[in-house]
Amino acid sequence: MIAPDLESAIDRLRELVEDARVILPFTGAGISTECGIPDFRSPGGLWTKNKPIPFDEFVSSQEMRDEAWRRRFVLEESFARAKPGRGHLALASLHRAGKAPALVTQNIDNLHQNSGFPAEHIVELHGNTTYATCLDCATRYEMGWVRKKFDAQRRAPDCPACGGYIKSATISFGQSMPAEPMQRAENLTNACDLFLAIGSSLVVWPAAGFPLMAKQNGAGLVIINREPTEFDGIADLVVRQDIGDVLAPFIAH
Ligand code: NAD
Ligand code: ZN
Repeated sequence: MIAPDLESAIDRLRELVEDARVILPFTGAGISTECGIPDFRSPGGLWTKNKPIPFDEFVSSQEMRDEAWRRRFVLEESFARAKPGRGHLALASLHRAGKAPALVTQNIDNLHQNSGFPAEHIVELHGNTTYATCLDCATRYEMGWVRKKFDAQRRAPDCPACGGYIKSATISFGQSMPAEPMQRAENLTNACDLFLAIGSSLVVWPAAGFPLMAKQNGAGLVIINREPTEFDGIADLVVRQDIGDVLAPFIAH
């Protein structure tokens, strides 16, 4: 059912939330656009400006690593300045109310953590761009450190510990999905009775398989996204409104 307007969307969502025992929020870039971080696929989104650099190009070319880091530094200001939005705050409230024990996100912006949702209960399917790691030994490096090295030597730095390549801690296209988060996401999906897909175009696989898995497992499915998604037809509630507007009433003050 597609909610006809904002008010009825909120009313219906409230009922579903009240009836649910275990809610699993599943979030994509759309929850962070009001925080000043563009999504990929909306008009003007990151996708239209820069095609992502696939993993094999990153590891096979110093030039591509330099380019990847230059692009990352351009985005640094938006990432560093972004504060959690109304959607993030609402989900943190649902967590504190005992309704949403954990969440799964495709986002890499750290805003769920910043909203007060405990980090150990956030499953990041695509990693986190607010820090970097060595691809070989997994040592963590902070953005400021990478920036300093890059500026000093005018090229992407390698790991001082092992010589491996240093990459923002995200999963690139062509890079295999992290096994542990995928397993946790699957377990959470199977354990929830209400799955909230929020701000994801639901086209990136395998992440997009989770709403389907939830539905097949008997959970209710709510999709909040201003554009239609492939799964709208099987959802119990489809809300094509602004995420912040829809979720603001769920923020506990
Ligand atoms: P996407 O760009 O494919 O889809 C975002 C969806 O959100 C779009 O369908 C758009 O219509 C909708 N949307 C945007 N703002 C909205 C709003 N205010 N209200 C309602 N709907 C809104 O994003 P995705 O499916 O999450 O996948 C892209 C991948 O790119 C992610 O998996 C992630 O790894 C990465 N990414 C992350 C960020 C971030 O961390 N904030 C930003 C861009 C891309
Ligand atoms: Zn290393």
